[in-house]
Amino acid sequence: MKGGGEGVPPSPVDFAIDAELLKVVDHGRDLGLCAECFGRVVGRYGHGLTNPERAERLAVPGSLPPFPPTATCALCRGGFDRWSTWVDRIERAADGIEWSTFSCGCRWDPEILAHEELIWSKVGSQWGESARSAFNRELGKRVEARTGKIGGSGPADVVFVADLMVGRVEVTIRPIYLSGRYVKLDRTIPQTRWPCRSCHGRGCTRCEGTGKMYPTSVEELIAAPILAVTEGRGTRFHGMGREDIDARMLGDGRPFVLEILTPRRRTVDPAALQAEIQRTAEGRVEVRGLAVGAAADVARVKEARPSKSYRVVVRGEAPRDKINEALKLAVDRAIAQRTPTRVAHRRSDRVRTRRIVAVDLVAVDPGRFTLELRAEAGTYIKEWVEGDGGRTEPSLAHSLGRPLSVESLDVIAIHDAEM
Ligand SMILES: [Zn+2]
Ligand SMILES: [Zn+2]
Repeated sequence: MKGGGEGVPPSPVDFAIDAELLKVVDHGRDLGLCAECFGRVVGRYGHGLTNPERAERLAVPGSLPPFPPTATCALCRGGFDRWSTWVDRIERAADGIEWSTFSCGCRWDPEILAHEELIWSKVGSQWGESARSAFNRELGKRVEARTGKIGGSGPADVVFVADLMVGRVEVTIRPIYLSGRYVKLDRTIPQTRWPCRSCHGRGCTRCEGTGKMYPTSVEELIAAPILAVTEGRGTRFHGMGREDIDARMLGDGRPFVLEILTPRRRTVDPAALQAEIQRTAEGRVEVRGLAVGAAADVARVKEARPSKSYRVVVRGEAPRDKINEALKLAVDRAIAQRTPTRVAHRRSDRVRTRRIVAVDLVAVDPGRFTLELRAEAGTYIKEWVEGDGGRTEPSLAHSLGRPLSVESLDVIAIHDAEM
């Protein structure tokens, strides 16, 4: 077992039998333990021996009764038997699953585990190794030998849990992660799959049986070809923030990590998947720089607080010089934004202070004008333009002294590379 932590036998052998150890041996002599369980009573004493080998060395003086076979052991009741059956079960559980690394776990009758601790205290051993850790290690060695896969206690493709009480192996497949940036061209889809508010996903008349508020999402459009290849059971989408449903996400796109749950296939070709998303989600979603990621990417994406640039088409009319004057005053000034009513159901109601870093008036047309601006993470752009009934102060509408409304909003850049 590589990276296997405690109990991994490094050579050379170091097992000096001293008086203290012999006292433990003597106290344990009539407990009816098999060689594995007897050796395990001092399993953390010395190095380089398996537990049965420890038992053998301790029996050398000839002072111990013969060890019973493990099937009649007073402690494990045959738990350390039938390794090939367990490996068979593992191979069956893993049938059809792609994996190259694994770890082992096990479930024992709690009575046996309690009995084991009682034995340690009875014989006065401070070196006892638990049946669970010994079983996991020994099973792992045998799975490695049979399959050629790599075992260990660290993160692995699959985790096998042997349930000794029912004689069954459960397999847990760890997720895989794909990272990239998405461009959203469609103003009608949310970023993530949105379960129906009425039925919470079960399907009802409101959602026409789909269980969803929207027919699709950025998440689902990206996930569909990936799920088909990986045979995953579902996804979790982690975006570096998100835009409103009716906002487009343009420019170089927004960083995201897609977590594929229980993938039966883990080897993917990101370039081919990206091309397939391009084909199947054409005109709605595009993906750039799709690559195999890791669990750590999720935190990186979730914790980033980059500033963003927007293009806003504002409905309203004002002379060009008045607009420019108002914009000049808005830049780099503290804007107090009380949580907008539209997001109050998911955000606590408080006042946040944000800044607009830069803003340009790029077009003035009859009845509307267009701005491009860059703002700190978390700035509510629509509210800054419209004022949100006085909840955002100062606002552009207030500065211009007339009502304004946002006709459309696009995110044109996420400035995550500059952090
Ligand atoms: Zn035993
Ligand atoms: Zn529904």
